[in-house]
Amino acid sequence: EDAWEGVRAVVTGFGVSGFAAADTLNHLGADVIVLDESEGDGHRAEQAQLLEVLGADVRLGPGSTATLPQDVDLVVTSPGWRPTAPLLVEAAGRGVPVWGEVELAWRLRGPDPAPWLAVTGTNGKTTTVQMLESILQAAGLRAQAVGNVGTPVVEAVMDPAGRDVLAVELSSFQLHWTRSMSAQAAAVLNLAPDHYDWHGGAEAYAAAKGKVYERAQIACVYNVADEATMRLVEQADVVEGARAIGFTRAIPEVGMVGIVDDLLVDRAFVEERVTSAAELASLADLDDASPHNVENALAAAALARAHGVPAVAVRDGLRAFRLGPHRISTVAESGGVRWVDDSKATNPHAARASLLAFDHVVWVAGGLAKGATYADLARDVRDRLRGAVLIGADRDLIAAALAEHAPDVPVEIVDAADAEALMDAVVAAAGRLARPGDTVLLAPAAASMDQFRDYAHRGDAFAQAVRRVTG
Ligand code: ADP
Repeated sequence: EDAWEGVRAVVTGFGVSGFAAADTLNHLGADVIVLDESEGDGHRAEQAQLLEVLGADVRLGPGSTATLPQDVDLVVTSPGWRPTAPLLVEAAGRGVPVWGEVELAWRLRGPDPAPWLAVTGTNGKTTTVQMLESILQAAGLRAQAVGNVGTPVVEAVMDPAGRDVLAVELSSFQLHWTRSMSAQAAAVLNLAPDHYDWHGGAEAYAAAKGKVYERAQIACVYNVADEATMRLVEQADVVEGARAIGFTRAIPEVGMVGIVDDLLVDRAFVEERVTSAAELASLADLDDASPHNVENALAAAALARAHGVPAVAVRDGLRAFRLGPHRISTVAESGGVRWVDDSKATNPHAARASLLAFDHVVWVAGGLAKGATYADLARDVRDRLRGAVLIGADRDLIAAALAEHAPDVPVEIVDAADAEALMDAVVAAAGRLARPGDTVLLAPAAASMDQFRDYAHRGDAFAQAVRRVTG
């Protein structure tokens, strides 16, 4: 603890994890300076004030991140900050270590710390850590889903109440800034284009994801259907004896978890002499048995089994689990048309999984592309599309992909002054395109921040507009 006394730490970015990092470092006795270009408003202003009362130096507003203060020992940066930010480049140039909040949390674990079961991937992270949390709790463990899902890891690690095990959701941004983390078991669910703008390309994005496997102790869980995840396992430097465990929706080979008939089975963590496969759960135990959620359940089961959880707890945990909001949730059924909010589908790979779960779809899409391209998606889903309603800053990218690869699909482009008017126009346009039996699906394949606060705001605006029309 004393090690932090007088350490000069700069926290860049004052969001959820930035506040947690600053608060923790301040509490440990470090001299903390918080920097963020945007002003503190509402809740953030209160948090800034609280930190200042506790002795931290909080500098918010334009210009505050222009230069790195003198004599800095450590920078803890936020996921929103790109590695190319001048201040971080300056830190690197001066030889100042730059960590993320996750790395800080790893280093602050006390004696006898809770093991980490870590999950990353382009899509399905939140769903999988929440399934995992449910399974671990069904096994009677004090477990919590933390990280990118909401609660900063550092907060859980510092909580004197203690945990038996943590289900840690890690984004590619968070992984970029980890250095020494050693998960008990780690999973990359899938790998598809996303956030290339932040990372500077496909290779850097994959490399960041692959860091989740580094120093893994017991198991590296990968997706048999997604070879790129297996290659990341092969490239990782793991603890001796750690195994590669595949998950598959097909019949599993020895060393995998998978599906036989309608059962989730484990052929990896069974004792050979007892039985050759353990039945974990039935597909009927799942809240939603769409292919992508079956994969998420298998990955969660594999991680739980690596931690030593009995099969019956996997079943009970999956039974108790319910999907979160804005993840393929039905908003209304009216005139034979089903209206579905999958606002969380923020990249083409997620939208693809979502669109393939329905037969005839009026697709509502668009927003910020983050460097993604749409040709493959348009080709993969064109047979299901009744039409498309496009919104947002990068709608022309999707329109162009559809024009080239799905020329028969009618497209309506919609714009409006505010979120409410925009979604009213979207719903009107979708209503014109849909026929009885169709699904109108908000699966934007893009981020929301050009026109909405976040994906939840986008999903809520859609749902409210749908309800205004369908009653
Ligand atoms: P993340 O935390 O990685 O963003 P979520 O669990 O919140 O993932 O799911 C986001 C969206 O991604 C879902 O609404 C769904 O459209 C899609 N999705 C979920 N799991 C998968 C998967 N395993 N493969 C592909 N797409 C998925």
